[in-house]
Amino acid sequence: MQSGGARAEGLQRPVQFLKGVGPRRAADLARLGLHTAEDLLLHFPRDYLDLGESLPLAALTPGLRATVRGQVLASAERRPRQGLGILTVLIDDGTGRLQLVFFNQPYLKKQLANGVQVVANGEAAPFRGALQMQSPELEILGEEESPRLLGRRILPLYPATRGVGQRWLRRLLDGLLAEPGLVAGLPEILPAEWLRAEGWPARGAALRAIHFPEDRDELASARERLKFEELFLLQLLAALRRRQLAREAGPVLAGGERLLAPFLAGLPYQLTAAQARALAEIRGDLASGGRMNRLLQGDVGCGKTVVALAALLLAAEGGYQGAFMVPLEALARQHFANWAGPLAALGLRAGLLLGGGSQPAKERRSVLAGLADGAIDIAFGTQALIQDEIRFARLGLAVVDEQHRFGVLQRAGLRERGAPHVLVMTATPIPRSLAMTVYGDLELSVIDSLPPGRPGLVTRLATEEQLPRIHAFLRERVAAGERAFLIFPLVEEGDQAELAAATQAYEELAAGPLAGLGCGLIHGRLSAARKAAALAAFRSGERPVLVATTVIEVGIDVPEATLMLIHNPERFGLSQLHQLRGRIGRGRQKSYCILVAPAGMGETSRERLETFVKHRDGFRLAEEDLRLRGPGELFGQRQHGRPELSLAHPLADARLVALARERAAALVARDPELAAADLRALRELLQRVYRERLLLAGVG
Ligand code: ADP
Ligand code: MG
Repeated sequence: MQSGGARAEGLQRPVQFLKGVGPRRAADLARLGLHTAEDLLLHFPRDYLDLGESLPLAALTPGLRATVRGQVLASAERRPRQGLGILTVLIDDGTGRLQLVFFNQPYLKKQLANGVQVVANGEAAPFRGALQMQSPELEILGEEESPRLLGRRILPLYPATRGVGQRWLRRLLDGLLAEPGLVAGLPEILPAEWLRAEGWPARGAALRAIHFPEDRDELASARERLKFEELFLLQLLAALRRRQLAREAGPVLAGGERLLAPFLAGLPYQLTAAQARALAEIRGDLASGGRMNRLLQGDVGCGKTVVALAALLLAAEGGYQGAFMVPLEALARQHFANWAGPLAALGLRAGLLLGGGSQPAKERRSVLAGLADGAIDIAFGTQALIQDEIRFARLGLAVVDEQHRFGVLQRAGLRERGAPHVLVMTATPIPRSLAMTVYGDLELSVIDSLPPGRPGLVTRLATEEQLPRIHAFLRERVAAGERAFLIFPLVEEGDQAELAAATQAYEELAAGPLAGLGCGLIHGRLSAARKAAALAAFRSGERPVLVATTVIEVGIDVPEATLMLIHNPERFGLSQLHQLRGRIGRGRQKSYCILVAPAGMGETSRERLETFVKHRDGFRLAEEDLRLRGPGELFGQRQHGRPELSLAHPLADARLVALARERAAALVARDPELAAADLRALRELLQRVYRERLLLAGVG
């Protein structure tokens, strides 16, 4: 028998050395992030084709999405114009007939010779009196090389990518999983009694079954086990990290009389009960003798900033510096402009630190010096605050605002700058089970109500035809001294086409329907200085209309802004719309958010937007968003590295999330070094896949 180590090496084989993979295919796989045999095993199907569920062709009706099976009777190819090839294939199953239509896939013609058995999955649509399926998922049964595959009832469907065909990938995985000893020799990473308790298969069996299940039951338990595994690995890392933090001593910051009390007394409002509760939790951490590692979560506009300021004042009272890090320069400038004065009144010096080039060199040098010699008490800034050359004399507390914009590693960066206490804040109103997944290593405080006296915010779904009336309304608001945002979608900063759309819209509006009002433009491609200028002109009322991309989604606080038009709202996620809408309704006037939908918007988009019109509660919207779009948005690119959950869904699998957290905590309490013999494979896997995170957690 091979040892676990040797077997792991087998799984670490580069894909290129697998049968049927040459350098070209290996490059295609690399584009999918699949480099080793193990990566392939962990590349899970997005869905399955259940041949046992296929419908007789006679039972198909228009609009029905179904799996059908039949024999090719005839096929024909047409080239209606240059660059377009249409292949129509007629299939028959004895009960009826159906046309399958494929675009620009000339190679299919040869494979779909008369007599070949195929399975197709797609939506049946009427076409000239007959039914057809356009671009269905296609299985050519007669063509499978492997008799194992040919006999299978449930076939995996992998996420499609150019260059990597469905059937080819399937054959590759089938071959890999059929290697003698591979499945049986896959080391188990979970304790055997957990598997017994839940009735879950061993790791090797689960990985085989998720690709090639014998039946639905086997698939369900394999999926559950692997979901748990994903969640458990994250929770284990979080538990290790929590434990490490808990063991480290932090400075006791227990004052409050000298600076905090006068600060709170000087505010033009009282803290809400929810703000006061969050502050009390923070004070508990700061006074505990340990290190604070807390997430402050609260919907847009709930007033997180002032709570963070209060915490920074406690640090200052204890003789420590504080840092307030935000993801956008405009936001850093805003915080600095708002708070430098009140802080000075308390005898404290605030500093603003931006990236090199965004700030006059002399000013920047003086801020750097002030941080290093302790002359600056509280620093506001961007990621510039965690660059290597930054030194603080005595950093006591770091606040990370809009945490969802940063990755885990950046959060850790502040600790490396010497901050013993860390408070991260997010407006992403995520449900508790999700918070436990993404921020598993943090304690959680929630501000669950908005400050009183907000006269309400109305959201409406309108169409582009109504724009003249909407623009007239906008003129009225502006004449009354209020401000308006006009939002255009920009999916990623730097997306040229979208950028052109926003810029063009701006020029047309400024010269046309909104002429004479004073329009500004802000988007991600502008230099920081021009962004700041556009925002300042908006804030002061010099240019009371701001055409913007989602740059303004984060944190901008202009109480006079009472109107927001969102163009192409169907292009945004619900949570993102919610963040955008959070920019208005912050002052004493009633506010209006108008979604300007294009003509001919689809039914699903309409329903989604109507949900948004109905609900103002970010939690509800986030749940809705998760249901509709999956958790990818919250994890994927914005957190660092590979998406961490590919199977588990933080909401749907809440039970598994809780179980994973419980099991991880118990394991770390019992065996913090993961030293037990039966945890060896787990330890190896963690080190291979989550190396950076493990180092952060102090486990080498
Ligand atoms: P967010 O939580 O989205 O960061 P902010 O901290 O920007 O929210 O606060 C939003 C607005 O609410 C700010 O204009 C702030 O001055 C105001 N605010 C905060 N707390 C209160 C309160 N307790 N009562 C009234 N207004 C408040
Ligand atoms: Mg904020």
